[in-house]
Amino acid sequence: MKTNVFISGGGIGGLTLGLKLARCNIDVTVVERLPGPGSVYKGELLQPKSLEIFDSLGVIDDVFQNGHSISDLELIELKRAKSKAEHSTMSYSILPTPYPFSLMIHHETLKDILRQKGEEYPSFHYRANTVCKKINGHTVTVEDRETKAETEIHSDFIIGAEGRSSVTRDYMEVDVKEKKYNHHFLTVTFPRPMEMVKGRIISTYQSFLGLFPLPDNEVRSVYLIPAGEYKTLRKKPISEFHKLYIEMCPDLDGYVNQIEDWKKIQLMVPLKYHAETYVRDHFALIGDAVHTVHPMAGEGMNMAIQDGSILGELLCDMYKEGKLNPANLEWYPKVRKKRVAHQMHLSHLSALVYSYPYRPVGWLRNKSLQRMERDSISHYKQMLNISGLGMWRETLYDRMIQGGMLPIRHDSLTDEEKSTTTFTENQDYPWKGKEALQ
Ligand SMILES: Cc1cc2nc3c(=O)[nH]c(=O)nc-3n(C[C@H](O)[C@H](O)[C@H](O)COP(=O)(O)OP(=O)(O)OC[C@H]3O[C@@H](n4cnc5c(N)ncnc54)[C@H](O)[C@@H]3O)c2cc1C
Repeated sequence: MKTNVFISGGGIGGLTLGLKLARCNIDVTVVERLPGPGSVYKGELLQPKSLEIFDSLGVIDDVFQNGHSISDLELIELKRAKSKAEHSTMSYSILPTPYPFSLMIHHETLKDILRQKGEEYPSFHYRANTVCKKINGHTVTVEDRETKAETEIHSDFIIGAEGRSSVTRDYMEVDVKEKKYNHHFLTVTFPRPMEMVKGRIISTYQSFLGLFPLPDNEVRSVYLIPAGEYKTLRKKPISEFHKLYIEMCPDLDGYVNQIEDWKKIQLMVPLKYHAETYVRDHFALIGDAVHTVHPMAGEGMNMAIQDGSILGELLCDMYKEGKLNPANLEWYPKVRKKRVAHQMHLSHLSALVYSYPYRPVGWLRNKSLQRMERDSISHYKQMLNISGLGMWRETLYDRMIQGGMLPIRHDSLTDEEKSTTTFTENQDYPWKGKEALQ
């Protein structure tokens, strides 16, 4: 069997890339090991850049119909559980985009939307319950997990989109060095009060609860625990878990209690790695296969979408211009690597800021978040950087303002100034408009 581009892994990254290629009439085959919806929680928060990408892929209406938009993130610091809270708010509304908000959507619903749209194109082939077993040059051996029948697929390009454990990455002999953290998360979705519509991050100096509203009056939650504490916690009655949440957020009384069993609650072990190599010969890696990020800033799924979009545009141009030299794939890491490294750095910093259980750390975090909200440039930079729309690094000067050593800046950026901070078409697709492709 032949296809132009073979994608191993039908997660969000593989499906975004597959859809993009199908829209360019490129014959693309996506194989997915699972027979149907995955049973574990994964990323659900879409950042503005991902919404722009889904607009360009013709699925934005479906995404909106199935999602819950969040324009503000409320950061609430409790001195002690149940004591008076200090608030700050970070808002997407200041961003120069048609989509100045994030959006929560069930992971499997988003995958269905992308796959169904892909299936509208005759050049899109999706095979569920099929595992990519072996790679040899341009030939991949896949196995139907039900019949055990093996098929060889020959392709021009092979993309590894298998998530953390990647056959393609192994074949490319690309190593990743995992960094673990001193904490884990419990994560679970349950019914929410109707009026809980904003994202909330509630912290004390030693605990952290993130609440992200989903459609249909549900909320996805993440609760930080010290690494290794899960086993001890699980031995306690489930009411102990309810108590932890209600102490941090009394509004959840009557809602979190609807979780009847520890089985519903998933342990999430954060880790990070960033491979040196994204591309080798006619192979490329996207999403979690090439980088995994601490989930604190809600970037994992967005980074996979952004990889799929940039690599997809590049492959579309290569086929359009008939320039199929694999050396052209190097444009993809040229665009993505620095951006990924920056987002990983931001997520890592957020993880550090929230995970050290000492009062002075909590105090400093609260003060600097409040100053960050009030300092127009810091606020803008933070939201821009997490949105994926642009990259504007924080300087020592910004940090000194946030730390209270320099005065807060009140002047907002003009629309013109903001427009110079977002990625331009030339930065997203630097190979376009030149004789750059070989
Ligand atoms: C348990 C867990 C919880 C997470 N929670 C969050 C969160 O709360 N917030 C957040 O931002 N991010 C979270 N993430 C990260 C986020 O979900 C990922 O960054 C994102 O899903 C990456 O997309 P992907 O397409 O690269 O990989 P994946 O979503 O992992 O998709 C890879 C797909 O490839 C398939 N596959 C693997 N090997 C093969 C093979 N050999 N042949 C065929 N198919 C194969 C897998 O079945 C899977 O469907 C979580 C990740 C995990 C693992």
